[in-house]
Amino acid sequence: MSAGTASGAALARELTPRQDAVLRELMGWGGERPSFDPLLAVRLRELIEAGLASVAERLGRHEVLVTKHELAQVLQCERRWLASEPFEWSVRTAAGTVAHRAIALGLFLRDDPSPVELVDAAVERITGEDHDWGPAAFLSGLSPAEEAELRAEAVTQVTGFVTCFPPVARSWRPSVEARVRVDLCDDRIVLRGKVDLALGQPAGTQARVLLVDFKAARPFRTHADDLRYYALLEAIRTGVPPFRVASFYLEAGRWQHEDVTEDVLLTAARRVVQGVRRMVELRVDGREATLGPGPGCAFCPERTDCPGPERWEAERASAGGGLGVEEGIAQGIADEAPPVAVLVEQGGQAGPQEEHQAHHPQY
Ligand code: SF4
Repeated sequence: MSAGTASGAALARELTPRQDAVLRELMGWGGERPSFDPLLAVRLRELIEAGLASVAERLGRHEVLVTKHELAQVLQCERRWLASEPFEWSVRTAAGTVAHRAIALGLFLRDDPSPVELVDAAVERITGEDHDWGPAAFLSGLSPAEEAELRAEAVTQVTGFVTCFPPVARSWRPSVEARVRVDLCDDRIVLRGKVDLALGQPAGTQARVLLVDFKAARPFRTHADDLRYYALLEAIRTGVPPFRVASFYLEAGRWQHEDVTEDVLLTAARRVVQGVRRMVELRVDGREATLGPGPGCAFCPERTDCPGPERWEAERASAGGGLGVEEGIAQGIADEAPPVAVLVEQGGQAGPQEEHQAHHPQY
């Protein structure tokens, strides 16, 4: 099976049960698509800018750069966000970047390369890049064993994609690793994101775009907030939201998705306001940080002299030890956003093969 972009003829070929489930249940092939208020993007921007006006006036141009990771961290534990260290590549994070690049190459190469060939090509291209935000230098410094480990991990992820996703047709207008940026409050605050895979394009005010975030890890509650953040950026950027957002877990071949509604976007906008206000209060105003004990304490650089881990253990004990990682994260941010109606794909049982692939090539 190729990761390559499919022709109409290729689409008509038989899909595996999992690919068929992705087509029907995740992509919602042939399903209704919602239309949105043409002024929704304006209202979302106004909501955020009004909520941030009082803090933005204390900022310089491009002073606050917001990503999904920054938002999740400052809303989970302010002290940890303040103490966050510069990002450092690891074999696992670099493998994820290589896998994403390999998937991107596979969508547009025409000669049906295997996952191993795609990963080889991705490593070669990334290693040759001279900008400093990618893992080029990290890859160059790996030992042969580390590089083999990285390639194996990346191949696993790419294989997860090509064996679970149907071949992506060019008419679906795929876009891979597209960077999204929204400048707010006279360019003082910048919201940034990078969408792993976008399929489709809006038609007038009708939402026809599916956003997919690929994950190597297992599901976490914060992934749903990440997706809402992407939906918000897309809505403000294009004026029309995606109809659906999804996290796709490459190793398991499973996904979580949420259909985008106006309420979802308003919740995401309020979360941005809440997170950015905290960032400004902490970094610019010097407000004392609060603690957000949770499962993340185990990996936190502050854990040796922070009372958070002890409090988290006590909380776990009083809950009978029942707070696992996901429950803990959910509890930790429960006061930040209303419950998320994420749909979790369960069965993925194949339905009858329909002919829509051949007859309706437009996604
Ligand atoms: S140890 Fe826990 S509570 Fe303390 S800063 Fe880190 S994440 Fe926050």
